[in-house]
Amino acid sequence: MTRRETDLIMICTSDVAGQMRGKAVPRRDWDSRKEKGIGWTPTNVLQTSFGPIAPSPWGALGDLAIRPDPETLIDLQMDDAGIDESFAIGDVYTLEGDRWECCLRGQLKSAIERLEENHGLRVNAAFEHEFHYSGFPEQDGLGYTLRSFRRLGDFPNAVMSVLDAAGLDIDTFMPEYGAGQCEVTIAPKPALRAADEAAILRDLVRATAHGRGQRASFAPIINPEGVGNGVHVHFSLETLDGTPVCHDPDQPHDVARQSGAFVAGILERLPEFLAIAAPSVPSYLRLTPHRWSAAFNNFGNKDRESAVRICPVFGASDPEALSRKFHFEFRAADAAASPYLLLAALINAGLDGLDRELATPTPTETDLAALDPAELRATGCKRLAGSLDESLTALTSSAWAKQAFGETLVDVIDRHKRTEIDLMEGLSEEEVCARYHAAY
Ligand code: GLU
Ligand code: MG
Repeated sequence: MTRRETDLIMICTSDVAGQMRGKAVPRRDWDSRKEKGIGWTPTNVLQTSFGPIAPSPWGALGDLAIRPDPETLIDLQMDDAGIDESFAIGDVYTLEGDRWECCLRGQLKSAIERLEENHGLRVNAAFEHEFHYSGFPEQDGLGYTLRSFRRLGDFPNAVMSVLDAAGLDIDTFMPEYGAGQCEVTIAPKPALRAADEAAILRDLVRATAHGRGQRASFAPIINPEGVGNGVHVHFSLETLDGTPVCHDPDQPHDVARQSGAFVAGILERLPEFLAIAAPSVPSYLRLTPHRWSAAFNNFGNKDRESAVRICPVFGASDPEALSRKFHFEFRAADAAASPYLLLAALINAGLDGLDRELATPTPTETDLAALDPAELRATGCKRLAGSLDESLTALTSSAWAKQAFGETLVDVIDRHKRTEIDLMEGLSEEEVCARYHAAY
């Protein structure tokens, strides 16, 4: 099947709700739309995933433009995989042509620029994506089994062929631990591309499920007693000429000083940006001890319950390969977060650690949940907020956050997410999970 020139391409922005929203244009207009974009309105950023729009400082006023980045164009027709997708991701500009302060892709670009300008560094990142697939018969106890994998039918192969056709470097697919849960990973890329690919991957996995009359849900947790769907962000730093800078065999745990400062910034600021990384009401059911997510702002060495973990290195035959592969993993995020704002938050917090030359944190080696308050204080780690309400209060009270993201965006996140909290008022935990299951 060939495309008609009237067939539509959707030009999207990834927003505060973690949704891709936009407008579609006929492909014959693509060249002109690349330049002028599509019209957009500031209040769209207050659209929750549940219908109501949060109180907007702009109301019905104002105009913006989303200009697509041609590098993000996905234009796939794959009959065998049931795929017919045409979309691109863009940046939101003011009519004067400036980056709009609530454009999350623009926020990431600004963070990347600051890291390059102030420290001569770049971030490479890879996102791990967990999700629930409705075509996967749910049965506890069959995590990672060949039997589960078989029951997924042709879905995993279809996902991988679609991601590959979209230009993503496919890595692994697994039937995860949770009943009905899957995970897909792809190779690391420079930060902006990594966020683009995270957004693209989620929608292509959803599209592949849709093509089978099924759904893929990236909701942070599907039921209160069950396993969460995490977004784990693997990251490393390199110089502008591509020299990796995370590994130093002369430092504790091989963590080079500069990357240790970056990680220290992330962990110190995590309570302040948690509402960005885990921005949903049920996110806080997932961020509890013994779920292999993260419940404290701790550094861990190969510890799957740490907020930032030093990852093991496989198959490094020489010191150069080792230093290229050595990296960290941030585990406290979920897919209610826009991948752009999440990565912007990690970079902004890491930058703060670099600016203040923070010392590399000491990895914890115990179950922090088993410590009494005095013992926990002695580790220097804090229990992460127990609710979205609490993490929003930490965000809006943070002078650092207002400076890093701008007061307008912090205010918008607060308005948006507090409306979301109100919408979940009076619902049971099961009902809240069901609402998010449908929304993501
Ligand atoms: N499902 C866990 C989470 O919510 C992660 C399990 C793992 O891959 O280590 O983050
Ligand atoms: Mg996993």
